[in-house]
Amino acid sequence: MKKHKNIKKKRLNIPKIIFTLFILGLIIFAIKYIFFNKNNEKIDLGTEVVSQNIVSAKDKEIPELVLNGREYEVIAKESTYKDKMVVAKDNIDGDITNKVKVEGNVDTQKEGIYEVKYSVRDEAGNENSIKRTVEVRKTLENKGLPVLMYHFFYDKNKTTGQDNNWLEISDFEEQIKYLSDNNFYFPSWEEVEKYIDGEINLPQKSVVLTVDDGDDSFFELAVPILQKYNVDATSFVITSWYGYRANEKQKNVSYQSHSDCMHEGATNGKGVMLSWPIGKIVEDLNTSNKTLGGNATVFCYPFGQYNDVAILALKQAGFKLAFTTQGGRVYKGSDKYKLPRVRISKTTTITEFKNMVN
Ligand SMILES: [Zn+2]
Repeated sequence: MKKHKNIKKKRLNIPKIIFTLFILGLIIFAIKYIFFNKNNEKIDLGTEVVSQNIVSAKDKEIPELVLNGREYEVIAKESTYKDKMVVAKDNIDGDITNKVKVEGNVDTQKEGIYEVKYSVRDEAGNENSIKRTVEVRKTLENKGLPVLMYHFFYDKNKTTGQDNNWLEISDFEEQIKYLSDNNFYFPSWEEVEKYIDGEINLPQKSVVLTVDDGDDSFFELAVPILQKYNVDATSFVITSWYGYRANEKQKNVSYQSHSDCMHEGATNGKGVMLSWPIGKIVEDLNTSNKTLGGNATVFCYPFGQYNDVAILALKQAGFKLAFTTQGGRVYKGSDKYKLPRVRISKTTTITEFKNMVN
């Protein structure tokens, strides 16, 4: 009887044990599954740090990059662009030219200023990069007129420029000094219009300076430099924001319109000038012109955007020239309501600048 009972008990326990083991197994599996990836990551991070330390102790020097050909190249529209590449050398790995990555495209069908970036990484992970600027010009014989486009300015001793539209003020001074030292001519807008119409020629060394928006950084930092070197610039003012500036007459600064309140995005993500009815655009242009004293003849499209209605509105409001943000020079016969400019940015070197104006 006793024995029988024991056997019975044992028999009853076996499924229980199996069931318990099964549940335990499930829990262990679940825990492993949840933490598996995290553990793996930790292990990976550890090895990466260790291997980097070992390698960087050997090679801390960045590879050297030397451009073949010029830093600033000018080619004619519709010609073929053949990249002259770079040579890359590393103190440990030797010639690593075959590892150079090239970014940036030159569209020879479209006038503009293009950037080609070459970057390379040595075995130890030290990286270096260098750039080349390629300007596609309408013609090489006729130099055209560069109209420079600036935005905002900063002083590196006080702040850092927020983005590429911010130019360090000593870089600006270097550019203005160059124009002044080399006796550049700064034509009036009337002269620019006559030049486009083919009525006059401009001196070889002619350049126009434009500064968009009319914000404080231009007046506080850049205007004193323009005055110091006696160089003229046009401020394209958003009159609803900075229109009062036009009353503070400043030597070497003239004012033209960057719209009254059209420097705003519409719900479609584009500037409102592209969706407003023509009457409303003309009204905005008239208000802007009035704020500037009634003599505005040149316009700068908000965000560089335009369409046929915008152009028609400009003509109705009496504007003679209008600038986009497209890259390129102004030539005899250029479309007066789709004029391109040459963008000056934070990364523009003085060599590039000289090429942009020469
Ligand atoms: Zn603007």
